[in-house]
Amino acid sequence: MWTGGLDSTYTMIVYSHYDIEIQPYYLRHGRKSEKYEFKAMEEIREELLNNEKTKAKILPLIVIGEEDIPSDSEVEAAYSRLKAQGGLGSQYDWIARYARHHDVEGLFYSPVKPTSSASKFRGCIEANGVIKEYVNSVGRKVFTVDMENSSPDLKLVFGGFNLSETFDITKLEEEKRMREEGYTRILEKTWFCHTPVLGKACGCCHPCETTIEAGQTWRFTESRLKRYRELKAGASPGKVRLETYLDVLLGR
Ligand SMILES: [Zn+2]
Repeated sequence: MWTGGLDSTYTMIVYSHYDIEIQPYYLRHGRKSEKYEFKAMEEIREELLNNEKTKAKILPLIVIGEEDIPSDSEVEAAYSRLKAQGGLGSQYDWIARYARHHDVEGLFYSPVKPTSSASKFRGCIEANGVIKEYVNSVGRKVFTVDMENSSPDLKLVFGGFNLSETFDITKLEEEKRMREEGYTRILEKTWFCHTPVLGKACGCCHPCETTIEAGQTWRFTESRLKRYRELKAGASPGKVRLETYLDVLLGR
């Protein structure tokens, strides 16, 4: 799965070094950031194609819409039970149903090691099973649900996923490795904000919050960081959003 964000792009770079075919998938999920994500993926793909270290053949992006996802009462019921334990994004239900019905094996998902914000995804996995690690045919570390020591619900929803090696590293480590290996331009093209304000990262949505808390404050202007702190201190989200619009309009 590719979104044009840092974590999935990190996985794209890792696998671009091998003589394999990479089939990227993008899940449409009604995000306001969609056009920025498509732009980031297009530009990053160009960068990868023109990089002499790229050995992989990167196939055209497959965009998955809600209409491509058949209903599946078993997966939906399992997802609902997992979600009821403490929340879980609906994308996992969608992707699990898509992969099951389109015979997509070994779909890679790139969850990063969280820093300060708790991860519902990780909490769900830990409460319902065990993740095991193996080394795949090109020698990279992969994490999967241990099918012998996990609940039937976890196996049904996450059993078809490969978790990329991002599972074991933080955003700052991803950034460090990308810079060291000469992928700084790609790093800067990755998109993360879900609710941009006039094309700029808002500083207040969940991925912005995760990015700031992971230590990547260089992605924000000082005024955006100030709004983030105001929101954290309890300011009204509507007021903060309005102030952010003014900041962007006035170039602050
Ligand atoms: Zn944002």
